[in-house]
Amino acid sequence: MLGQRPQPSTLTSEVWDLIVIGGGITGAGIFLEAARRGQRVLLLEQQDFAWGTSSRSSKMVHGGLRYLGQGDIRLTRDSLRERERLLKELPDLVVRHPYLFTIRRGRFPGRWAMKAVLWLYDFLAGIRDHHWLSVDRLLAQLPGLNSDGLVGAMRYTDALTDDSRLVARVLHEGCLHGGQACNYVEVTQISSANKVFTLSVKDRHKEDSAKEDSSKKEDDSKESSKEEGATLTLQTRHVINATGAWADQLSGSEKKVRPQRGSHIFVPALRLPVDECLAILHPDDNRPVFVFPWEGVTCIGTTDLDHSADLSFEPICSRAEIDYLLRLVNSQFSQVPLQDKDIISTMAGVRPIIASGKGIDPSKERRDHEVWEKDGVITVSGGKLTTFRLIALDALQAAGLINPVEYKHSQATTKPMFEFAVQAPQQLGHPLAALPTGAALREQIDWVLRYEMVVHLDDLLLRRTRVGNVLAQGGQQVLAEVRPLCQQHLGWSDEQWDAEASRYMNIIQRYYSVPSSNTAAADTA
Ligand SMILES: Cc1cc2nc3c(=O)[nH]c(=O)nc-3n(C[C@H](O)[C@H](O)[C@H](O)COP(=O)(O)OP(=O)(O)OC[C@H]3O[C@@H](n4cnc5c(N)ncnc54)[C@H](O)[C@@H]3O)c2cc1C
Repeated sequence: MLGQRPQPSTLTSEVWDLIVIGGGITGAGIFLEAARRGQRVLLLEQQDFAWGTSSRSSKMVHGGLRYLGQGDIRLTRDSLRERERLLKELPDLVVRHPYLFTIRRGRFPGRWAMKAVLWLYDFLAGIRDHHWLSVDRLLAQLPGLNSDGLVGAMRYTDALTDDSRLVARVLHEGCLHGGQACNYVEVTQISSANKVFTLSVKDRHKEDSAKEDSSKKEDDSKESSKEEGATLTLQTRHVINATGAWADQLSGSEKKVRPQRGSHIFVPALRLPVDECLAILHPDDNRPVFVFPWEGVTCIGTTDLDHSADLSFEPICSRAEIDYLLRLVNSQFSQVPLQDKDIISTMAGVRPIIASGKGIDPSKERRDHEVWEKDGVITVSGGKLTTFRLIALDALQAAGLINPVEYKHSQATTKPMFEFAVQAPQQLGHPLAALPTGAALREQIDWVLRYEMVVHLDDLLLRRTRVGNVLAQGGQQVLAEVRPLCQQHLGWSDEQWDAEASRYMNIIQRYYSVPSSNTAAADTA
């Protein structure tokens, strides 16, 4: 299990077989596949695990109908096979769910084109699970749906998950195989000599604590400033840079990644009740946008824009994106229009897209991953949440840690990826279970604090649980219940709790709330 955070200085005493940089789903997958093969592997994440894109996706473990529509059959087939594997292996975390692709007169694709696409989609997955829903049946199921030009819907199935819980589950498995992971450690430089890489790393937790301390402890500051931003060096025989949208910063090669932002909004399920995932073509640009139930709320997204903001800060869902998503919902449902005040929270993420270099529309760039090497450093970026196992195999083969025969065998193996049981509290991370209240919520929090390397309050409330996404004002109303558990397990004093609570509310305010109408919208494209 992940357990408590190790002191980074204790990680300097050995030469690792492999250091994986980046604690998103890609890094976690590589970590697990290396650890299960007996490698001495260490994973380092500059912030919290899944802090990057892997807590901000559309939470779909899917083949991706649009990739099939773009002719990307291999990516769709691989994703669908991995979807089926995850459905079988993690039934409490990856859940099959019905999707409805609504069809309106005069819009492409129509019923028969969709039927052909879904036949191929199911065929590639090895299932048969789609059918036509007449307009009457569709409206009986979704009485609020605007019936103008509505012809019906194709019903098919795909899967939903909780992306950051999926990352945590993969990390637990890697640790149970003997791997070691550490959050809040930033890799700042990679050099190599005599077949050994030296990584300069910064302990950002130490840095955070030192910053907090330095205001109150002028005289004691020798001790803390000695540690503040202290650079440690770690050694390893292999290194894989799995830093997603940040990959160009460490790859040592020419720039390849085109960061693209995608945003979602969350609204109360009572305000927009949907039991199934709706795939709707946006009236503005014909892009598919999803409206789906997730952890007790309704989620709407996503957008697709070039993201030029500084990647050291969390991305923000812009005013223009909110308007775009509200426009979609309000064009499809004949209820009282959704407005800003209905939005519980927003969430923006940055896709690591491998640039085609052709300057094409962001939505048209391929979603495949790429692995490349420069001066011995293997970099992997792009791809999807769904295909993390296959991405890991590609990266490990490029690093020379698995040979071509084993690679081929592992790609097709039916051997389970998850061998250990992790007894998490019921429904933690179940994509269709509402956040519990009272004793059940406290049980989830207690377990997470014991076993999941929580350093800051936002780790607990935005990634290990989704309190901050699904409750209004970041779940301010449950902080009083959370406080004694944090103080008990993390040893926080009253002052530390106050500092953490204010840091958390600041993050919620800046990055997960609705920007005011006059906020300049960045990258609105
Ligand atoms: C809006 C949106 C919707 C999506 N929807 C889906 C979906 O429904 N299904 C699907 O399959 N895929 C989806 N994706 C794609 C998927 O989310 C990403 O491909 C995946 O999460 C990328 O994972 P990653 O590990 O490569 O990157 P990340 O999750 O970003 O992880 C990289 C990590 O590296 C860390 N890092 C960076 N620099 C350093 C450093 N110097 N030292 C240490 N650590 C460092 C970062 O902090 C970060 O946590 C979506 C993406 C977006 C943006």
